[in-house]
Amino acid sequence: MQVAVLIVAAGRGTRAAMGPAAPKQYRMLGGQPVLARSVTAYAAHPRVGAIQVVIHPDDRALYEASLAGLPGPLRPPVAGGATRQDSVRAGLHALLSAAPDAVLIHDAARPLVGADVIDRVIGALEHNDGAIAALPLADTLKRSGLDGTIAATVPREGLWRAQTPQGFRFAKILAAHDAAHKAGRGDFTDDAAIAEWAGLQVALVPGSERNLKLTDQEDFALAERLIESQSSPGEQRTGTGFDVHRFKDGDHVWLCGVRISHDRGLEGHSDADVGLHALTDAILGAIADGDIGQHFPPTDQRWAGAASHLFLRDAAARVTKRGGKIINVDVTLLCEAPKISPHRDTMRSTLADVLQIDINRVSVKATTTEGLGFTGRREGIAAMASATVLLPQCNPSS
Ligand code: MG
Repeated sequence: MQVAVLIVAAGRGTRAAMGPAAPKQYRMLGGQPVLARSVTAYAAHPRVGAIQVVIHPDDRALYEASLAGLPGPLRPPVAGGATRQDSVRAGLHALLSAAPDAVLIHDAARPLVGADVIDRVIGALEHNDGAIAALPLADTLKRSGLDGTIAATVPREGLWRAQTPQGFRFAKILAAHDAAHKAGRGDFTDDAAIAEWAGLQVALVPGSERNLKLTDQEDFALAERLIESQSSPGEQRTGTGFDVHRFKDGDHVWLCGVRISHDRGLEGHSDADVGLHALTDAILGAIADGDIGQHFPPTDQRWAGAASHLFLRDAAARVTKRGGKIINVDVTLLCEAPKISPHRDTMRSTLADVLQIDINRVSVKATTTEGLGFTGRREGIAAMASATVLLPQCNPSS
């Protein structure tokens, strides 16, 4: 299904505008014009094939300035009419040459529409003439009398608040708009009302409170807060680690928490698990909290022969203590032998277990060094690792 988007930005609404004349869709929101945010929400969606914006004829310069350099399948803007209904009809006719199967009609003043809402509307169009994002009414409804006191309580069962996008089969909504125009009906407040008038079947799918319509100053303030909470979930940091252990006599090695039979062992104060040591240092590096030797000195008899997953668990706990979480880890083992690949998935699940993260966030790789250097001469094993963690936003001194 070819999906086009029609963004209605022809309104003159200046109630929320900062400047004397700039309509709200061109006002800045979180460092970006409102219209640019609305366009980007759709340009970033994989199902959207064409975007048509309808603007007021006087706003051409504002439009160009707002969307300059924006990537995406944006068509040249068209001028709207005297009413929203006229503007949508102009946009639909402009989209005729794109010949989409479906069109999502969206108000530019809803810049925080999410991919989830867009998905739901497109999904419902598979089986309906139309589908709109909407929210069931949560508040009790009152009808006021002439004196400003309550005249009646209105039952709210089955009542929804309509949002946009409102999606339709393209040919059907175009025909409905043309028929309404021909019939001299210019009083519809949204496209679903026109579809309803034309006898189309329109589904209600859940919208989102986040998908708010910017009307007044308070809406802009709320939208700014929503953007801020979304855009700064924390701070991402990366650390790296490296470790080497020398071979000695023995019949097994520990690598990434897995015991592997081998004709040599690895020398070290603990179990000499070079993979776990490198990874522990990577995590400590990501949170700038020293290194493994500082927290578990080899001179300390407590760590003699210790299982190295203790060290890794301690590093992970230091991340948790800071309110952070580990995003992913990646370990590379450098050796000629033993062969790592048969143990790779056991290593990954062992690390995932110790770190308490999903196995898809854990990578273990291995390489030889082509017979070169100390690993090539089979004198020992080296390991390197990286770890990325997400920390809560903190001030520079902490
Ligand atoms: Mg070590």
